[in-house]
Amino acid sequence: MTLAPNVYDAEPIPEAARAEIERLLTSGDLFRYTSADDSPVALLEREFADMIGAKYALAVASCSAALFLSLKALGLPRGARVLIPAFTFAAVPSSIVHADCVPVLVEVGDNYRIDIADFEAKLDGADAVMISHMRGHTSDMDAIMALAEERGLPVIEDAAHSLGTEWHGKKIGTIGKIGCFSFQSYKLLNAGEGGILITDDPDIIARAVIMSGAYEHNWKKHKGPHGENSPALQEAFARWQNQLPLYNTRLGNMSAAMVRPQLAEVPRRVRDGRQNHDYVAGQLNASPWLTVPKKLAPEDRAPDSIQFNLVGMTDAEAKAFQDAAARRGVKVQIFGLSTDNARAFWNWQFLGDLPELPRTRAMLMRACDARLPARLTREDCDFVVEALVGAAEDIKSPELAYGT
Ligand SMILES: *Cc1c(COP(=O)(O)O)cnc(C)c1O
Repeated sequence: MTLAPNVYDAEPIPEAARAEIERLLTSGDLFRYTSADDSPVALLEREFADMIGAKYALAVASCSAALFLSLKALGLPRGARVLIPAFTFAAVPSSIVHADCVPVLVEVGDNYRIDIADFEAKLDGADAVMISHMRGHTSDMDAIMALAEERGLPVIEDAAHSLGTEWHGKKIGTIGKIGCFSFQSYKLLNAGEGGILITDDPDIIARAVIMSGAYEHNWKKHKGPHGENSPALQEAFARWQNQLPLYNTRLGNMSAAMVRPQLAEVPRRVRDGRQNHDYVAGQLNASPWLTVPKKLAPEDRAPDSIQFNLVGMTDAEAKAFQDAAARRGVKVQIFGLSTDNARAFWNWQFLGDLPELPRTRAMLMRACDARLPARLTREDCDFVVEALVGAAEDIKSPELAYGT
């Protein structure tokens, strides 16, 4: 009998990181601003910007820090209203609270994407938009950008989990004014912790760089597109010198040294992750009790997990499904049924008054989440399929169930 695949372990850090890490251990050169230029963090920023096709990148301590700095870099006043999808990770509304702004939650449909009618209805009175591509599911960016641009609202993309995803062939994270990515271990690039912010706007990057902790003249170590000196950037830095608080949320050289050799792995991880996902999705959709929502037409996804909805099950049956899947070796989380889940908006009690969002709530009560890393083999994927389809049969049609 095949063993349950380990879906939690990350891939090993590429061997190429070893020499650089050894050099950093020997020299103690861990702070990005110690070396004259070209620190590992600066090189990572340049390589990431070139890979994604952005003019500027700033590596920071986390994607949450990148989201917070994005709001500060846009110069949003205290109390500014920022639209976010109600299906996201608690760190996203938290970054808005941190920036003294107010999150406005928008309904999300059972395809995990923003409900555009509710988005449009909530735009009046909004000051900015932060789109979380939650679990790598892209909302309708054509509609969102058109509606936001009509009103002159800046769009921040939370692409923490969307590295490698494309929309009409354009990389996610480059559609809005600012894009933010994560290097936390469950994301496509793994530094343990870390994040990066990208933009084409010299004023925004200058403000974000200074506030991330480029005190005094350390900003001189930040260059323009392709590592060249850029007069527009120099002017922006001069304009903001001594005008902004320093939040000191930088990335260290050791983290950058671990991420840099992984950049070359991105296309393989994207390809294999998508292949695994689409294979498993096809098999799950054959079950009458499981459904994987279709991606939107302009979207090419880069998944490392799978989300699917339970069909025709009560709360009790949904919980029993979760238990049956666990007995069969696959851990599934139903966002709304697991206690204190950080992706269920009613647990964001730090926001105070929480709105009622019936569509999002209904989705969360039946939406399942299972990890499906790119490194899984076809045999591993078959194990996951059998466990999930079998668990649904255990509950809905025990006479059909596969043996355990
Ligand atoms: C992981 C994640 C974050 C937070 O990233 P950190 O780097 O851990 O701060 C934010 N949004 C989404 C959609 C995520 O998946």
